[in-house]
Amino acid sequence: MAAVFFMLSAVLGPLFRLARGDSGAPLTAECGAVAFGLVALFLPWDRWPQRTLHVVAAAGFALKVVTTLEIGASPWVYSLHYLMLFMWIGAALGPRVPLLWSLPAAASYVVPILLIGGDRAAIASASLVIPASVFTGEAAAWLTTQLRRAERLSQTRAQTMAGLVDATLALAASQDSDELARLTALGSAELYRADCALVLLDDAGGVLRPAGEAGWKEHALQALEEPTVAALLHEALESDEGLPAGAVADLEAAFGLHRLRVLPLRGSGDALGVAIVGSFSEGTPMEQFTEYVARTLATQAGLGFERVESARTLRDESLRDPLTAVGNRRSAEVALEHLKPGDAIAIIDLDHFKRVNDNYGHAAGDRALCALADHLRCSVRGPDSVFRIGGEEFMVVLPAARGAGLAVVRRLHQRWRAQERVTSFSAGVAIAAPGETPEASLARADAALYLAKREGRDRVVLEASPDDELA
Ligand code: GH3
Ligand code: MG
Ligand code: MG
Repeated sequence: MAAVFFMLSAVLGPLFRLARGDSGAPLTAECGAVAFGLVALFLPWDRWPQRTLHVVAAAGFALKVVTTLEIGASPWVYSLHYLMLFMWIGAALGPRVPLLWSLPAAASYVVPILLIGGDRAAIASASLVIPASVFTGEAAAWLTTQLRRAERLSQTRAQTMAGLVDATLALAASQDSDELARLTALGSAELYRADCALVLLDDAGGVLRPAGEAGWKEHALQALEEPTVAALLHEALESDEGLPAGAVADLEAAFGLHRLRVLPLRGSGDALGVAIVGSFSEGTPMEQFTEYVARTLATQAGLGFERVESARTLRDESLRDPLTAVGNRRSAEVALEHLKPGDAIAIIDLDHFKRVNDNYGHAAGDRALCALADHLRCSVRGPDSVFRIGGEEFMVVLPAARGAGLAVVRRLHQRWRAQERVTSFSAGVAIAAPGETPEASLARADAALYLAKREGRDRVVLEASPDDELA
């Protein structure tokens, strides 16, 4: 800008002289201005400290001295020159610099006029031109500072929004609540430019469980055990307005953090947890804009947790028998797909169940089904699984049970018998053989069950071999 200013003055200078009728005078000032302008245009100002720009200001005043000495004093040209120069000083060098330059500027204005014996009016004009120029320069400095501040703010906000977009996309892609919790902690710490964040989820039983963190120190977790901390966090979970300042200060003291925020993670319904964000040192408070963005992130997280939870419920329900709560036929098919050689498979069927319904009613029949399902589920080990595959027909898979599978089913059968339930059951057992398809193993277990029925019911049969029959 200054370079253009110098060269423009060099072009306008001769025109002005022509108009005044003293075109014969030497063009030292104009030549100097063009030379300085050209050099200034290509100098790497960006790489130098800002204060080197003072050289340009000094050159501007020197140009005026030379002009005065060459073509004499002309107050209105002076005023224009000083106004423009001071505006540039203010914009380029910042507040208070125009004031700093006021004395040298006054000297460069008055001294050459005195040297050429200029009139009093020309000297007196300095008392108007210099203060007005300094004022204009300071105004330009103030405006420039404001503009730069606004530009910085908008850049920071754009970064914050980009952070929100990234976090939202990551949350939307996540299918697991612990991963969601970690992403929420990471996203909220980034948004607040905080050092750490912790996400607590409200599990059944009213306990806030740490589910994800970012930079959270281990010892700060211990504070969660304190009853007052737990009570304050529950208060935050319930409140829309956020915690009062006193409560936040208490939590800051408990966690040893500064600039603490507690964001309730609320989607479409009640809050499912909270995100705690904090820093290890004090810093400038966050602007309102960040608070709004953080609340948007917290809502996105809340919706994410709701989505994952309802997907899990749907998945569970689609695989569970609604009456007995054991696996249904669909999940039995999935289990069969993973059947390996050595796994034991048992098909269990209640005996004369039709009679139970006929004699005691359908509700009693249902109760018997539930009782058998509970009996099977509670009697088998962790990796074993129970499914209801038909009306009164169940399937039990015992991974890697091999020969012991028969003993397990026998025990199930004896214990059921000991309970003196409304009816007995029969079972067919098969051990999956190498190279056999799951369907073939199932068919063998089914054939064994058929045999058990034919042999008089209330018994367990291994495969289709009569030798394995056990009453
Ligand atoms: P078997 O000893 O040969 O297995 O005779 P069963 O009477 O148990 O066998 P059958 O196949 O003749 O009858 C099964 C009965 O189970 C018929 C049906 O009404 C009943 N049933 C099927 N599903 C349900 C249910 O969900 N609840 C009740 N209460 N009864 C059911
Ligand atoms: Mg039956
Ligand atoms: Mg049946």
